[in-house]
Amino acid sequence: MHDTIKERAAELGFDLFGIATVRPLDRHGDRLIRWLKNGHHSGMTYMERNREKRINPGLLVPGSRSVIVAGMNYYHEYNPPENKPVFARYALGKDYHRILKDRLNVLLEFIKVEKPGIEGRVFVDTHPVLERAWAQAAGLGWIGKNSMLINREKGSFFFIGILIINIELKYDKPAARDYCGNCTRCLEACPTSAILENRTIDSNRCLSYLTIENKEDIPPEYAEKARLKIFGCDICQEVCPWNHKAIETTIKEFEPLPEILDYTTDQWKSLSEEEFYHIFSGSAVMRAGYKGFMRNVRSGT
Ligand code: SF4
Ligand code: SF4
Repeated sequence: MHDTIKERAAELGFDLFGIATVRPLDRHGDRLIRWLKNGHHSGMTYMERNREKRINPGLLVPGSRSVIVAGMNYYHEYNPPENKPVFARYALGKDYHRILKDRLNVLLEFIKVEKPGIEGRVFVDTHPVLERAWAQAAGLGWIGKNSMLINREKGSFFFIGILIINIELKYDKPAARDYCGNCTRCLEACPTSAILENRTIDSNRCLSYLTIENKEDIPPEYAEKARLKIFGCDICQEVCPWNHKAIETTIKEFEPLPEILDYTTDQWKSLSEEEFYHIFSGSAVMRAGYKGFMRNVRSGT
């Protein structure tokens, strides 16, 4: 059954696949609690809710037995010329939430046909699930010093989707090794020193948080660092040696929006709210909203 589900997941466009048994994620839970206690989640107060459910999926989906983890490559060669605003690669194309969710639901239906009567639930970044911890538990890779899930063959430019089901399956071995070794490239390259020693990120300083989730002005001490970061930041992934083998995604929906590739700085500066919704409806950029996006444009250009 494991291999049949894996084959179907590959047909659906997933590049990484693994299955873990449902259990409390105590070690990751402790880290999460420390991160919250230290205020490193900044304005993401929703992270304070459902702590127990985050750590123990048995509470999230009663009767759950297996966590199926599937990763989808979103990498694009994207090297905007100097002085042009930069978007994080994950936001170049269509919003991944719907794309992964739809495909994981197809996978769930497939499993239901094979094993009638099973129940399952799909999670893609919108519920209290520790995706990277589950990916590690399912053998997809290790959590690097930059806090990203890294796969030895394929790097870290992946979306992670989760399907929790109520039957036991054959489980993959957790990824026990950490291949960061003595490397500190991401720590050195991070423009705001947001990467902490314990493989977590201080969101108060992270340009990804400051240009996406943050609803306030970009703090003046980071404004210069945020220059040209119009939505998100990929620096700690770009410098990671494990991403040197990253290959172009084959998912059509992740192809960059033409405006992202073509618009000049002046065009972004004069973007109306109507144009913003026209260009970015169905894109992850909507997360920042027009106000947040224009704040980034102003502080970044
Ligand atoms: S996303 Fe950018 S700012 Fe945030 S930790 Fe990585 S390099 Fe630093
Ligand atoms: S850059 Fe180096 S330290 Fe950072 S995540 Fe990659 S391998 Fe690990």
